[in-house]
Amino acid sequence: MEEETKKRRPFLQRAALFLLSSVLSLALLGLVALWVLLRPDSVLPDHWNPTRPLSITAPVTPVTRWQLRMATRDEAVCRDVLARAGVVFSQMEPLTSGDHCGISQRGSLSSLVGAQLSPVETRCATALRLAMWEHHDVQPAAHQHLGTDVAQLLHIGSYNCRKMRTARGTENAWSSHATAGAFDITGALLSDGRRLTLLRNWNGTPEEAAFLRQIWRGSCTWFRLVLGPEYNRLHADHFHLQANGWGFCR
Ligand SMILES: [Zn+2]
Repeated sequence: MEEETKKRRPFLQRAALFLLSSVLSLALLGLVALWVLLRPDSVLPDHWNPTRPLSITAPVTPVTRWQLRMATRDEAVCRDVLARAGVVFSQMEPLTSGDHCGISQRGSLSSLVGAQLSPVETRCATALRLAMWEHHDVQPAAHQHLGTDVAQLLHIGSYNCRKMRTARGTENAWSSHATAGAFDITGALLSDGRRLTLLRNWNGTPEEAAFLRQIWRGSCTWFRLVLGPEYNRLHADHFHLQANGWGFCR
């Protein structure tokens, strides 16, 4: 018995040592790779580099969501990201109204990357999510299903100092509109002159219906709570796009 223990110990020690050195060298290799990749002059494209700021028009990668999060949290980064993509979001003084209402990172949004908007007050983070949606979902869906661009997105605003509305009536909780954390879209004006609204075209021609459904689904990539015509009658005429939520999309 004692003989066996003596023989086994050096083997176990050697195995443990081997395992430890493997883990350490792998960790070291990982750190070196990370250091090389994340240097300012890295060969890694910016849209794959989590230390670089978001670019709205860059291809979407697994890193994009992280970059978007960082940009929505930092007002200066957010405004810079919008400006670099040509989004028109002119700065305004922050608004406070009572304990529950107001707009931080406030500005007036009048143009996304491709589509115009009638000027609307919102916060930078909301404008940024909207710009990502417009560039990566709305315009591609318009090309695919309607063979044209979206010239203007139709909306009924972002900021509204009010409590939540549900099918049962008004709730006690405050709406995300009270802090401009949501945006309501009612339709789109196309470059060929057509005007699509959720109310008239949600069940319109197959192309119109496919376009509206695709941009509705696409918005769930950029907003965490999305309510549309399928949800309830209060949303028959608009998409409610909200930044904060628990991944509800209906
Ligand atoms: Zn809404």
